[in-house]
Amino acid sequence: MNNKFFANQLIKWYEYYHRDLPWRQTRNPYYIWLSEVILQQTRVAQGLPYYERFVNTYPTVFDLANAAEQEVIRLWQGLGYYSRARNLHQTAKYIAGELNGVFPPNYAGLLRLKGIGPYTAAAIASFAYDEPVAVVDGNVYRVLARVFGIDKDITGGEGQRQFSKLASELISREHPATYNQAIMEFGAVHCTPSAPDCLLCPLQQECLAYATGRIHLLPVKDKKTKVRERFFNYFVIVQNGRIAMRQRTAKDIWHKLYDFYLTETESNVQSIDEFSDNQFLTSIFSQTILTPPSRIFTYILSHQRIQAQFWMLEASPETVLNLPSDLTFFNEDEIENVPKPVLITSYWKEHFF
Ligand code: SF4
Repeated sequence: MNNKFFANQLIKWYEYYHRDLPWRQTRNPYYIWLSEVILQQTRVAQGLPYYERFVNTYPTVFDLANAAEQEVIRLWQGLGYYSRARNLHQTAKYIAGELNGVFPPNYAGLLRLKGIGPYTAAAIASFAYDEPVAVVDGNVYRVLARVFGIDKDITGGEGQRQFSKLASELISREHPATYNQAIMEFGAVHCTPSAPDCLLCPLQQECLAYATGRIHLLPVKDKKTKVRERFFNYFVIVQNGRIAMRQRTAKDIWHKLYDFYLTETESNVQSIDEFSDNQFLTSIFSQTILTPPSRIFTYILSHQRIQAQFWMLEASPETVLNLPSDLTFFNEDEIENVPKPVLITSYWKEHFF
């Protein structure tokens, strides 16, 4: 198929069918960057309110740079992948402090920024500067694999190189921004993973997957994600109406977010006797009133499945507790304001509201 025909069909489709989204109304690289970072691994409907909150709270890169990290993570709360929020903040500081608030003017310069990979750099360079660099995200892989009948594994280096090369050949030199938006939007709403609308497809005549009945076999993904099962036991220590929390500092999920005293086990715990070798817990069990465990909360991340149970331990005002040094008592307002994993918020809403 002629490259120009492919690009023109997508652009024509896009002009008629695209969703009106706020980041499509701007050429400001800061707003485009915010939208791209927020939308990675997030559906548009979920990402949109976050985008609006970030733009309203931090209208310029200087505002984001000057914010406290905890505030940025709090605003990000619920989107997951918290390292992205931290990188966003650090990169905003770098752009504000070292580059006078001016984003690098091209793909190569953008790629040098922390947390900006080839996909985000291509999105900013094309949408903000009309530079003809192709974006290749999951939607683009799917459209290209199907239309061109490519059965190379999209998780392997060789496959990725082949798709990148093809994407670079296909991008419209006259309208790179619209073309990139068009192919991503086409994959997101028309050539979808499980229900592509082949009957009303402007590329149906040329689509090799359609012609050969391989729509649901493409794209090929060989690498299966290995999911790690984890079992969290949280102890919610309450005294004088305040609750002991700690900031997570280890290299693990939810870095810098706040949770309660935690001990991890190999499976769900049946009885608190299973904590008999934990000195802190055995001592605090004797000093407090222990409520029965909560229901099991299940929380799924991309590579982990967490099952969590919570026990509440109520200490009388006069009890002198010997807490681990990272635990501090917070009142309700303070707890509301610190960034917390969604798992903790779910428990909190169920038990304290
Ligand atoms: S014919 Fe079907 S599979 Fe092929 S591009 Fe169109 S919607 Fe996608």
